[in-house]
Amino acid sequence: MNAAALGPFPAHRPRRLRQPAALRRMVAETRLSVDQLVLPLFVRAGRRLRHPVTSMPGVFQLSPDELVKDARHAHELGVPAVLLFGIPDRKDATASGAYAAKGIVQQAVHLLKKELPDLLVITDVCLCEYMSHGHCGLVEQGPRGARILNDPTLKLLARAAVSHAEAGADLVAPSDMMDGRVGAIRTALDQAGFTETPILAYAAKYASAFYGPFREAAESAPKFGDRRSYQMAATNAEEALREVALDLREGADIVMVKPALAYLDILRRVKQEFGCPTAAYAVSGEYAMVKAAAANGWLDERAVTLECLLAMTRAGADILITYAAPDVARWLRTDAR
Ligand SMILES: [Zn+2]
Repeated sequence: MNAAALGPFPAHRPRRLRQPAALRRMVAETRLSVDQLVLPLFVRAGRRLRHPVTSMPGVFQLSPDELVKDARHAHELGVPAVLLFGIPDRKDATASGAYAAKGIVQQAVHLLKKELPDLLVITDVCLCEYMSHGHCGLVEQGPRGARILNDPTLKLLARAAVSHAEAGADLVAPSDMMDGRVGAIRTALDQAGFTETPILAYAAKYASAFYGPFREAAESAPKFGDRRSYQMAATNAEEALREVALDLREGADIVMVKPALAYLDILRRVKQEFGCPTAAYAVSGEYAMVKAAAANGWLDERAVTLECLLAMTRAGADILITYAAPDVARWLRTDAR
Protein backbone atom coordinates (compact mmCIF):
# COMPACT_ATOMS: atom_id res chain seq x y z
CA MET A 1 0.00 0.00 0.00
CA ASN A 2 1.18 3.47 -0.81
CA ALA A 3 0.18 5.59 2.20
CA ALA A 4 1.09 8.82 0.39
CA ALA A 5 -1.69 8.17 -2.14
CA LEU A 6 -4.27 8.60 0.60
CA GLY A 7 -5.75 12.07 0.88
CA PRO A 8 -6.24 13.52 4.33
CA PHE A 9 -9.60 13.72 6.07
CA PRO A 10 -12.20 14.70 4.90
CA ALA A 11 -11.17 13.58 1.39
CA HIS A 12 -10.52 10.16 2.77
CA ARG A 13 -13.05 8.56 5.08
CA PRO A 14 -12.38 4.84 5.64
CA ARG A 15 -15.89 4.45 7.08
CA ARG A 16 -17.42 5.00 3.62
CA LEU A 17 -16.50 1.48 2.67
CA ARG A 18 -17.97 0.08 5.88
CA GLN A 19 -21.56 1.19 5.37
CA PRO A 20 -23.65 -1.26 3.29
CA ALA A 21 -23.08 -4.92 4.21
CA ALA A 22 -22.75 -5.80 0.51
CA LEU A 23 -19.93 -3.28 0.15
CA ARG A 24 -18.15 -4.65 3.20
CA ARG A 25 -18.32 -8.08 1.60
CA MET A 26 -17.00 -6.71 -1.67
CA VAL A 27 -13.91 -5.09 -0.16
CA ALA A 28 -13.09 -7.99 2.16
CA GLU A 29 -9.37 -8.77 1.89
CA THR A 30 -9.60 -12.26 3.31
CA ARG A 31 -12.22 -14.89 2.66
CA LEU A 32 -12.83 -18.25 4.22
CA SER A 33 -13.69 -21.08 1.92
CA VAL A 34 -14.78 -24.64 2.49
CA ASP A 35 -11.93 -25.59 0.14
CA GLN A 36 -9.45 -24.79 2.92
CA LEU A 37 -10.84 -27.22 5.46
CA VAL A 38 -9.38 -30.47 6.76
CA LEU A 39 -11.24 -32.50 9.39
CA PRO A 40 -9.11 -34.56 11.81
CA LEU A 41 -10.71 -37.92 12.70
CA PHE A 42 -9.79 -40.63 15.21
CA VAL A 43 -10.28 -44.27 14.31
CA ARG A 44 -10.14 -47.39 16.46
CA ALA A 45 -11.14 -51.02 15.98
CA GLY A 46 -14.71 -52.11 16.53
CA ARG A 47 -18.20 -51.69 15.13
CA ARG A 48 -20.81 -49.02 15.74
CA LEU A 49 -18.45 -47.38 18.18
CA ARG A 50 -18.65 -43.65 18.89
CA HIS A 51 -16.65 -43.01 21.98
CA PRO A 52 -16.95 -39.33 22.96
CA VAL A 53 -13.82 -37.36 23.80
CA THR A 54 -15.07 -35.55 26.90
CA SER A 55 -12.80 -32.52 26.59
CA MET A 56 -13.73 -32.05 22.93
CA PRO A 57 -17.54 -31.96 22.62
CA GLY A 58 -18.60 -33.26 19.19
CA VAL A 59 -15.37 -35.25 18.69
CA PHE A 60 -15.38 -39.05 18.92
CA GLN A 61 -13.12 -42.05 18.64
CA LEU A 62 -14.86 -43.89 15.81
CA SER A 63 -14.91 -47.46 14.59
CA PRO A 64 -14.28 -47.70 10.82
CA ASP A 65 -18.00 -47.97 9.94
CA GLU A 66 -18.79 -44.82 11.95
CA LEU A 67 -15.70 -43.11 10.56
CA VAL A 68 -17.08 -43.52 7.05
CA LYS A 69 -20.36 -41.92 8.19
CA ASP A 70 -18.64 -38.84 9.62
CA ALA A 71 -16.27 -38.58 6.67
CA ARG A 72 -19.22 -38.81 4.28
CA HIS A 73 -21.11 -36.12 6.20
CA ALA A 74 -18.12 -33.77 6.01
CA HIS A 75 -17.54 -34.62 2.35
CA GLU A 76 -21.17 -33.87 1.50
CA LEU A 77 -20.79 -30.47 3.15
CA GLY A 78 -17.85 -29.83 0.81
CA VAL A 79 -14.92 -30.50 3.16
CA PRO A 80 -12.22 -31.73 0.77
CA ALA A 81 -10.01 -33.70 3.17
CA VAL A 82 -9.74 -35.63 6.41
CA LEU A 83 -6.65 -36.19 8.56
CA LEU A 84 -6.59 -39.63 10.16
CA PHE A 85 -5.24 -40.64 13.55
CA GLY A 86 -5.30 -44.26 14.67
CA ILE A 87 -5.78 -45.73 18.12
CA PRO A 88 -4.48 -49.29 18.09
CA ASP A 89 -5.71 -52.09 20.37
CA ARG A 90 -2.17 -52.89 21.37
CA LYS A 91 0.89 -50.70 21.90
CA ASP A 92 4.51 -51.86 22.04
CA ALA A 93 8.06 -50.51 22.25
CA THR A 94 8.57 -50.47 18.47
CA ALA A 95 5.16 -49.01 17.52
CA SER A 96 4.51 -51.98 15.24
CA GLY A 97 0.88 -50.92 14.81
CA ALA A 98 2.05 -47.78 13.02
CA TYR A 99 3.32 -49.69 9.99
CA ALA A 100 1.30 -52.94 10.08
CA ALA A 101 -0.28 -53.60 6.70
CA LYS A 102 -3.55 -54.35 8.51
CA GLY A 103 -3.10 -51.62 11.14
CA ILE A 104 -6.13 -49.59 12.10
CA VAL A 105 -5.20 -46.55 10.02
CA GLN A 106 -4.27 -48.67 7.00
CA GLN A 107 -7.67 -50.42 7.19
CA ALA A 108 -9.49 -47.14 7.62
CA VAL A 109 -7.71 -45.53 4.65
CA HIS A 110 -8.56 -48.50 2.47
CA LEU A 111 -12.22 -48.31 3.47
CA LEU A 112 -12.47 -44.53 3.07
CA LYS A 113 -10.92 -44.60 -0.40
CA LYS A 114 -13.32 -47.38 -1.40
CA GLU A 115 -16.43 -45.62 -0.05
CA LEU A 116 -15.48 -41.99 -0.77
CA PRO A 117 -12.89 -42.01 -3.56
CA ASP A 118 -13.02 -38.23 -4.05
CA LEU A 119 -12.38 -37.38 -0.41
CA LEU A 120 -8.69 -36.67 0.18
CA VAL A 121 -7.32 -38.87 2.92
CA ILE A 122 -4.31 -37.49 4.76
CA THR A 123 -2.67 -39.71 7.35
CA ASP A 124 -0.84 -38.55 10.41
CA VAL A 125 2.54 -40.31 10.41
CA CYS A 126 3.85 -40.71 13.93
CA LEU A 127 4.65 -43.42 16.44
CA CYS A 128 3.31 -42.00 19.71
CA GLU A 129 -0.17 -43.55 19.50
CA TYR A 130 1.42 -46.95 18.90
CA MET A 131 4.27 -46.78 21.43
CA SER A 132 3.83 -48.31 24.88
CA HIS A 133 5.58 -45.23 26.30
CA GLY A 134 3.70 -42.69 24.19
CA HIS A 135 6.74 -40.90 22.75
CA CYS A 136 7.03 -40.07 19.05
CA GLY A 137 10.32 -41.94 18.65
CA LEU A 138 12.24 -44.97 19.87
CA VAL A 139 13.41 -44.60 23.45
CA GLU A 140 16.68 -45.69 25.02
CA GLN A 141 16.78 -45.90 28.79
CA GLY A 142 20.20 -44.86 30.10
CA PRO A 143 21.75 -43.98 33.43
CA ARG A 144 20.69 -40.37 32.98
CA GLY A 145 17.11 -41.17 32.05
CA ALA A 146 15.33 -41.77 28.77
CA ARG A 147 16.60 -40.55 25.42
CA ILE A 148 14.56 -40.31 22.23
CA LEU A 149 16.62 -41.83 19.43
CA ASN A 150 16.45 -39.80 16.24
CA ASP A 151 18.01 -41.79 13.41
CA PRO A 152 16.66 -45.28 14.22
CA THR A 153 13.19 -43.71 14.46
CA LEU A 154 13.39 -42.47 10.85
CA LYS A 155 13.23 -45.99 9.44
CA LEU A 156 10.01 -46.71 11.33
CA LEU A 157 8.42 -43.43 10.26
CA ALA A 158 9.34 -44.10 6.65
CA ARG A 159 7.86 -47.58 6.93
CA ALA A 160 4.65 -46.16 8.39
CA ALA A 161 4.38 -43.59 5.59
CA VAL A 162 4.86 -46.23 2.89
CA SER A 163 2.26 -48.48 4.51
CA HIS A 164 -0.22 -45.59 4.48
CA ALA A 165 0.49 -44.89 0.82
CA GLU A 166 0.06 -48.58 0.03
CA ALA A 167 -3.32 -48.48 1.76
CA GLY A 168 -4.29 -45.58 -0.53
CA ALA A 169 -3.49 -42.42 1.45
CA ASP A 170 -3.49 -39.32 -0.75
CA LEU A 171 -1.01 -37.41 1.42
CA VAL A 172 1.14 -38.34 4.38
CA ALA A 173 1.71 -35.95 7.26
CA PRO A 174 4.69 -36.61 9.54
CA SER A 175 4.13 -35.04 12.98
CA ASP A 176 6.99 -36.52 15.01
CA MET A 177 9.52 -33.65 14.67
CA MET A 178 12.53 -35.97 14.35
CA ASP A 179 15.36 -34.41 12.34
CA GLY A 180 15.57 -35.65 8.76
CA ARG A 181 12.24 -37.44 8.71
CA VAL A 182 10.83 -35.67 5.68
CA GLY A 183 13.85 -36.71 3.62
CA ALA A 184 13.68 -40.28 4.91
CA ILE A 185 9.98 -40.50 4.10
CA ARG A 186 10.43 -38.93 0.65
CA THR A 187 13.17 -41.43 -0.24
CA ALA A 188 11.14 -44.38 1.04
CA LEU A 189 8.00 -43.28 -0.80
CA ASP A 190 9.93 -42.80 -4.03
CA GLN A 191 11.63 -46.17 -3.73
CA ALA A 192 8.24 -47.80 -3.21
CA GLY A 193 6.88 -46.11 -6.34
CA PHE A 194 4.88 -43.38 -4.61
CA THR A 195 6.65 -40.48 -6.28
CA GLU A 196 3.34 -38.62 -6.61
CA THR A 197 2.33 -38.83 -2.95
CA PRO A 198 2.80 -35.40 -1.35
CA ILE A 199 4.19 -34.81 2.13
CA LEU A 200 2.42 -32.39 4.42
CA ALA A 201 5.08 -31.76 7.06
CA TYR A 202 4.30 -30.67 10.59
CA ALA A 203 7.25 -28.35 10.07
CA ALA A 204 6.95 -25.93 12.99
CA LYS A 205 5.33 -27.97 15.72
CA TYR A 206 5.59 -26.50 19.16
CA ALA A 207 5.61 -28.32 22.51
CA SER A 208 2.29 -26.84 23.52
CA ALA A 209 -0.09 -27.08 26.44
CA PHE A 210 -2.87 -26.55 23.89
CA TYR A 211 -2.55 -30.26 22.93
CA GLY A 212 -4.04 -31.40 26.27
CA PRO A 213 -7.44 -32.61 25.02
CA PHE A 214 -5.88 -34.35 21.98
CA ARG A 215 -3.98 -36.72 24.23
CA GLU A 216 -7.25 -38.01 25.59
CA ALA A 217 -8.61 -38.33 22.06
CA ALA A 218 -5.58 -40.18 20.65
CA GLU A 219 -4.55 -41.84 23.93
CA SER A 220 -1.02 -40.71 23.22
CA ALA A 221 0.16 -38.97 26.39
CA PRO A 222 3.83 -39.82 27.13
CA LYS A 223 4.19 -42.15 30.13
CA PHE A 224 7.32 -40.30 31.29
CA GLY A 225 9.06 -37.05 30.51
CA ASP A 226 7.71 -34.65 27.91
CA ARG A 227 8.19 -33.87 24.22
CA ARG A 228 10.47 -30.89 24.64
CA SER A 229 13.51 -32.68 23.25
CA TYR A 230 11.87 -32.87 19.84
CA GLN A 231 9.02 -30.38 19.64
CA MET A 232 9.88 -26.68 19.52
CA ALA A 233 9.92 -24.16 22.35
CA ALA A 234 7.28 -21.44 22.29
CA THR A 235 10.12 -18.92 22.71
CA ASN A 236 11.48 -19.48 19.20
CA ALA A 237 10.49 -18.03 15.84
CA GLU A 238 13.76 -17.99 13.87
CA GLU A 239 14.10 -21.68 14.60
CA ALA A 240 10.67 -22.28 13.08
CA LEU A 241 11.90 -20.75 9.82
CA ARG A 242 14.93 -23.05 9.89
CA GLU A 243 12.68 -26.07 10.52
CA VAL A 244 10.47 -25.10 7.59
CA ALA A 245 13.50 -24.49 5.33
CA LEU A 246 14.90 -27.93 6.20
CA ASP A 247 11.59 -29.68 5.58
CA LEU A 248 11.17 -27.96 2.22
CA ARG A 249 14.70 -28.89 1.23
CA GLU A 250 14.00 -32.49 2.20
CA GLY A 251 10.93 -32.57 -0.01
CA ALA A 252 7.94 -31.29 1.95
CA ASP A 253 5.14 -30.17 -0.38
CA ILE A 254 3.04 -28.41 2.25
CA VAL A 255 4.28 -27.10 5.59
CA MET A 256 2.27 -26.79 8.76
CA VAL A 257 2.40 -24.56 11.79
CA LYS A 258 0.92 -26.10 14.95
CA PRO A 259 -0.80 -24.85 17.09
CA ALA A 260 -2.38 -22.03 15.12
CA LEU A 261 -3.95 -19.27 17.15
CA ALA A 262 -1.07 -18.56 19.52
CA TYR A 263 1.42 -18.81 16.62
CA LEU A 264 -0.04 -16.46 14.02
CA ASP A 265 3.28 -14.61 13.81
CA ILE A 266 4.95 -17.86 12.78
CA LEU A 267 2.30 -18.53 10.15
CA ARG A 268 2.81 -15.03 8.79
CA ARG A 269 6.57 -15.34 8.61
CA VAL A 270 6.52 -18.82 7.10
CA LYS A 271 4.12 -17.71 4.36
CA GLN A 272 6.06 -14.54 3.68
CA GLU A 273 9.49 -16.18 3.69
CA PHE A 274 8.72 -19.30 1.65
CA GLY A 275 5.43 -18.60 -0.15
CA CYS A 276 4.62 -22.28 -0.27
CA PRO A 277 1.32 -23.98 0.59
CA THR A 278 0.93 -23.50 4.33
CA ALA A 279 -1.38 -25.23 6.75
CA ALA A 280 -2.49 -24.16 10.22
CA TYR A 281 -3.62 -26.73 12.74
CA ALA A 282 -6.25 -25.29 15.09
CA VAL A 283 -5.51 -27.79 17.84
CA SER A 284 -7.66 -29.53 20.41
CA GLY A 285 -7.13 -26.92 23.13
CA GLU A 286 -8.20 -24.11 20.81
CA TYR A 287 -11.35 -26.07 19.98
CA ALA A 288 -12.03 -26.99 23.62
CA MET A 289 -11.70 -23.38 24.82
CA VAL A 290 -14.31 -22.13 22.36
CA LYS A 291 -16.63 -25.07 23.08
CA ALA A 292 -16.39 -24.61 26.84
CA ALA A 293 -16.98 -20.87 26.71
CA ALA A 294 -19.86 -21.31 24.27
CA ALA A 295 -21.47 -23.98 26.48
CA ASN A 296 -21.45 -21.43 29.29
CA GLY A 297 -22.98 -18.78 27.06
CA TRP A 298 -19.82 -16.69 27.33
CA LEU A 299 -18.91 -16.65 23.63
CA ASP A 300 -20.74 -16.94 20.34
CA GLU A 301 -19.32 -20.22 19.07
CA ARG A 302 -19.95 -19.60 15.40
CA ALA A 303 -18.66 -16.02 15.36
CA VAL A 304 -15.54 -16.83 17.39
CA THR A 305 -14.70 -19.97 15.42
CA LEU A 306 -14.99 -18.12 12.10
CA GLU A 307 -13.02 -15.15 13.43
CA CYS A 308 -10.18 -17.42 14.56
CA LEU A 309 -10.03 -19.19 11.20
CA LEU A 310 -10.15 -15.85 9.41
CA ALA A 311 -7.20 -14.67 11.52
CA MET A 312 -5.21 -17.78 10.56
CA THR A 313 -6.00 -17.20 6.90
CA ARG A 314 -5.11 -13.52 7.15
CA ALA A 315 -1.82 -14.52 8.78
CA GLY A 316 -0.97 -16.75 5.82
CA ALA A 317 -2.68 -20.12 6.16
CA ASP A 318 -3.99 -21.67 2.96
CA ILE A 319 -5.20 -24.83 4.67
CA LEU A 320 -7.11 -24.96 7.95
CA ILE A 321 -7.11 -28.16 9.96
CA THR A 322 -9.98 -27.90 12.42
CA TYR A 323 -12.27 -30.16 14.43
CA ALA A 324 -15.03 -27.68 13.63
CA ALA A 325 -14.72 -28.29 9.85
CA PRO A 326 -18.28 -29.66 9.32
CA ASP A 327 -19.83 -26.80 11.31
CA VAL A 328 -17.69 -24.27 9.49
CA ALA A 329 -18.68 -25.74 6.13
CA ARG A 330 -22.34 -25.40 7.12
CA TRP A 331 -21.90 -21.85 8.39
CA LEU A 332 -20.08 -20.75 5.25
CA ARG A 333 -22.96 -22.10 3.18
CA THR A 334 -25.60 -20.15 5.07
CA ASP A 335 -23.39 -17.02 5.12
CA ALA A 336 -23.14 -17.07 1.35
CA ARG A 337 -26.91 -16.79 0.98
ZN1 LIG B 1 3.70 -38.23 17.93
